[in-house]
Amino acid sequence: MRYSALAPRPAGPRTGGAPRGAASAPSAPEITKTTRSAPPRATDRRPAAAVDDDDGARRRGGGGPGGPKKAEPAKAVSRGKGEPKRREGRLTIQVAAGGEGSDDRMRSLASVRRAREREREKRARGLGGQETPRVIREVVIPDAITVQDLAQRMATRGVDVIKFMMRQGAMMTINDVLDADTAELIATEFGHSVKRVSESDVETGFISEEDRVEDTVPRPPVVAVMGHVDHGKTSLLDALRATDVATGEHGGITQHIGAYQVRLPDGERVTFLDTPGHAAFSAMRARGANVTDIVVLVVAADDGVMPQTIEAIHHARAANAPIIVAINKIDKADADPTRVINELLSHEIVVESLGGETQVVEVSATKRLGLDELLEAILLQSEVMDLRANPSRSAEGVVIESKLDKGRGPVATVLVKRGTLKRGDIVVAGAAWGRVRALINERDEQIAEAEPSTPVEVLGLDQTPDPGETLAVVENEARARELTEYRERLKRDKAVSPIAAGASLADMMAKLQTKKVSELPIIIKADVQGSAEAIVGALEKLGTDEVRARIIHSAAGAITESDVLLAKGAGCSILGFNVRASRQARDLAEREGVEIRYYAIIYDLIDDIKGVMSGMLAPIQRETFLGNAEVQQTFDITKIGRVAGCKVVEGVVRKGAKVRIIRNDVVIQEMGTLQTLKRFKDEVNEVQVGQECGMAFQNFQDLKAGDFIECFTVETIQRTL
Ligand code: GDP
Repeated sequence: MRYSALAPRPAGPRTGGAPRGAASAPSAPEITKTTRSAPPRATDRRPAAAVDDDDGARRRGGGGPGGPKKAEPAKAVSRGKGEPKRREGRLTIQVAAGGEGSDDRMRSLASVRRAREREREKRARGLGGQETPRVIREVVIPDAITVQDLAQRMATRGVDVIKFMMRQGAMMTINDVLDADTAELIATEFGHSVKRVSESDVETGFISEEDRVEDTVPRPPVVAVMGHVDHGKTSLLDALRATDVATGEHGGITQHIGAYQVRLPDGERVTFLDTPGHAAFSAMRARGANVTDIVVLVVAADDGVMPQTIEAIHHARAANAPIIVAINKIDKADADPTRVINELLSHEIVVESLGGETQVVEVSATKRLGLDELLEAILLQSEVMDLRANPSRSAEGVVIESKLDKGRGPVATVLVKRGTLKRGDIVVAGAAWGRVRALINERDEQIAEAEPSTPVEVLGLDQTPDPGETLAVVENEARARELTEYRERLKRDKAVSPIAAGASLADMMAKLQTKKVSELPIIIKADVQGSAEAIVGALEKLGTDEVRARIIHSAAGAITESDVLLAKGAGCSILGFNVRASRQARDLAEREGVEIRYYAIIYDLIDDIKGVMSGMLAPIQRETFLGNAEVQQTFDITKIGRVAGCKVVEGVVRKGAKVRIIRNDVVIQEMGTLQTLKRFKDEVNEVQVGQECGMAFQNFQDLKAGDFIECFTVETIQRTL
């Protein structure tokens, strides 16, 4: 359909030409020639006007010497009868061009040449000889577009779009905003092709694809130290910092920048995240940044496994990071490493000495014992993991922390994940961007570039990015601005509607509809350890071989920010039994869109989860046999096809029920539903046993006498646990 400027004349010039008297066949190609010549000369906006121009020109040209070689002008005159008046005042291209403005001018040689040229072009393009080429554009349609904008992009007048919408029953003004779907519909109706773009497209390419293995080289491991409070995380990190071989030469690792790299005697390096505690770890994970390769779990030998130890285990598991257990404080008199190992066993951490895979190192942070062994264990683990990155590409990294420094402005500590970050690079991290003014390492030295697994302070950003944001080098400032402006906007929008991307049970259900998840991840917090265990036990019992609850974390105590972040990272809900979320946790949950459900009765909780898990079960299809009909005789009827005269020998046959055809006790065809069921001449709904009936199947013509037609229904039954 065409609703362009041609719209007032409903059909295209091809048919449009005919009523105007160009009925004789030989003249048709001539007409085409001239009409065809129109669009390229016209502006794209007004192809029809251009068509008119030529016609008009020819009409005005009368039968004069304009067409010595062609009979066409004469025909044009007869065609134009009655119409010229209306068109006279119009601004035509020719008039505008000024060259051939006179009323009784003939077609110039140049115009004929142009027309021929165009015809040749058109033939080359393989278009049919009869139709005016419609200017098909690729119309770019964003998420929202005004009528005016859309019209402009289609090179049509806004009025035409409005008219079109009116015909569809929608009254619009030129400034109304159309959604992308409507805009697409309009554009296709106008005959254009559509390219949908979304604002979020600016994000594409920000993070590039995986590197090829052959481009990668081994990189140092990135290690996080976690454990219960007071078990010696900070002391251990300090002790490890001092193992650095460069210490003494340049003063060693001097500044705290959220991460530091220890250089070992044999040239190897290990990067430690200097942010003890789980909050930092899970904050990053919640933003999808998995920077940690290995988790060192610090457990005090005199204290054993404590709640935060367990939490740390869960965090490490959720992040898929292998654990190395550092049993700390072995210098103490009441140190009991065996007890720690046994306690860990109950949390499925099986150490090597017991046949498992987890390495254990006994250390003392204050007495500086076992540190080399710990580093050795880390290097061993990293070798097993075969950590690699491509250093020769534009850099990508993760913001570990950021601060606003009085003298230096926004400072972000970035861990380079791949590529090499150089001074002078233009980087974007979250909504912040800037040209890297300086890179400073943990030794307070200015460096020119930072390779994979190197933590550096980046100076030169325009604001402080959030920890966990990805930092990447972009090609130029314009790109950086485009990205950050989009992200700023997104941030603002998100602030307006806090629960955007949620991890609620309802969402989980929605996800289940699309893909078959058989595990329901859950975090459980209860008032006392006993009830947490009871709940976990009950939920585990609910599981079948198709669905089960996966307890990401369960513990006693209030719901903390750390829980919320863990939930966000795992995309699950938090169930609180007789506990409440702290204010901060509640705010965070709201911001991050994590659902927290509270319960006071265990059975309510179990029932709720049972409901969700039942929804995860695939429904079963139950078939109920209705009846059998035996084919007695078949008739071939023109237009209808083969019709079977049957006798119901068992049960009933029912219209709309499912049928299959059985020959010699073998199912030869599943037929879908029974559409045609007749008794004598009448269409009936049901035929009982002993009666005769007629059936026909459009998609199966091979019925034979003696076949059985089995009739059955299928019910979909939602299963419950
Ligand atoms: P964090 O809360 O896990 O960071 O623990 P800290 O590193 O702050 O250590 C808590 C306490 O344990 C401090 O008083 C340390 O001096 C002490 N501590 C840490 N490591 C050792 C150790 O190996 N031996 C002894 N005896 N005390 C230690």
